[in-house]
Amino acid sequence: MDTLPAELIDPFDRRVEYLRLSVTDRCDFRCVYCMAEEMTFVPKPEILTLEELEQVARAFTELGVKKIRLTGGEPLIRTNILSLVERLGRLPGLEQLVMTTNGSQLQRLAGRLRDCGVKRLNISLDSLNPRKFRHLTRYGNLDQVVAGIDAAVAAGFERVKINAVILRGRNEDEVLDLVEFARERGIDVAFIEEMPLGHIVEHDRQLSFCSSAELRDMIGARFPLEFVSAPGGSEGPARYYRMPGSDTRVGFISPHSDNFCHLCNRVRVTVEGRLLLCLGNEHSVDLRSVLRHPDYRLEGLKRAIVDAVAIKPERHHFDNAAEPQILRFMNATGG
Ligand code: SAM
Repeated sequence: MDTLPAELIDPFDRRVEYLRLSVTDRCDFRCVYCMAEEMTFVPKPEILTLEELEQVARAFTELGVKKIRLTGGEPLIRTNILSLVERLGRLPGLEQLVMTTNGSQLQRLAGRLRDCGVKRLNISLDSLNPRKFRHLTRYGNLDQVVAGIDAAVAAGFERVKINAVILRGRNEDEVLDLVEFARERGIDVAFIEEMPLGHIVEHDRQLSFCSSAELRDMIGARFPLEFVSAPGGSEGPARYYRMPGSDTRVGFISPHSDNFCHLCNRVRVTVEGRLLLCLGNEHSVDLRSVLRHPDYRLEGLKRAIVDAVAIKPERHHFDNAAEPQILRFMNATGG
């Protein structure tokens, strides 16, 4: 067998050094752009165990991955998640263990996540109006999430960032309030264009689309924005700006209006162990069958990952006007 490379380079010369690892497809919220109201979740036996998730993380870090984001679904509702976080926090070569969460469990868990080695948190927050927040999340409680964000700030993570998906006619009037909320706490905020993942009937994605350029103009009219960094590297897909006199950075994630595929350094693993090479393509490789093979060895898993990266697509093609081509919802993808 060929020797395994020390790093993952795809056919377009992009170095894959960032893994988004989904630890559950279940969630205590049902955000209207992310899930349908009635969802069918992956049956338990098909979900990777914590030990299997650790093997996946270990294989990737041994292949040069420096950053792992735990996500879902809601990662903090996976039973015994802290034991996985603790083990990943000790993986040699892993520089950034980070997490995306809806914040509902952070009052209880923020300090322990920090102690286990999580460096940064992204927390989703689409509205500061309790009724609107409930509508957008279907089940969420705004006070609980804000208290969770404050617990994260108090726990002293390297960075805390608010993620907001902005939908026209729903929450675009809250963009400046969300920036203020972040400024008051000295944390970052990023605005995400909605992506056509999964079939939803709750709203028309074409009508609700709000471009990053529009939001940037709206914010820039109140707070002058100075460009800081383009998508790529360890910062992920956001384009960041600073406001004079504030530590807060404002980011824009623009999968429609500012394609960042040529800088893509990421892959995802779903909770059933499907390695997704691109958020906007169905290319995937089944790692679970490798993990559950009677002759399983870590080297075999690493070989499967190396071979998979060789088919990473060049770019995604999102079109809100068409029927979604990607039928998996974001919760199943690992957002
Ligand atoms: N439960 C966690 C949370 O709420 O952040 C992690 C999983 S969630 C799927 C990760 C991120 O994906 C959230 O910031 C969410 O707003 C975003 N997201 C979900 N569906 C999306 C879509 N269709 N387009 C854009 N962003 C989406």
